[in-house]
Amino acid sequence: MEILGYKCRKCGQLHYPYRMVCKKCGENEHNEFDAVPLPRRGKLVTFTFLHNPPADFMVVKLPLGIVELENGIRVTGQLKIPKPTLGMAVQGEVEVVHESGDEKNYGMVFYPA
Ligand SMILES: [Zn+2]
Repeated sequence: MEILGYKCRKCGQLHYPYRMVCKKCGENEHNEFDAVPLPRRGKLVTFTFLHNPPADFMVVKLPLGIVELENGIRVTGQLKIPKPTLGMAVQGEVEVVHESGDEKNYGMVFYPA
């Protein structure tokens, strides 16, 4: 699945995740964004472990990281990296990160690049 960012048609600012109003020009109030694919590769800027996430995640410790993609956009995602280190190269995929009943939530998951 493609990772999509949202580019403001008025000023060109790229957003992720989706925003209703452009954070740069603030003038885009009509959802005038173009979906553009984001690069999958980036570097790990910071990470943390979420302890005791909701039971349906089925893990006791959930590693979360912030990754700066090759175009400078920062995204938050789950890490599937045994020993994450700051600045390491990672590669993102869009996966189901949370499931409850029939509802699937997609999010970013990062692997070592
Ligand atoms: Zn804008």
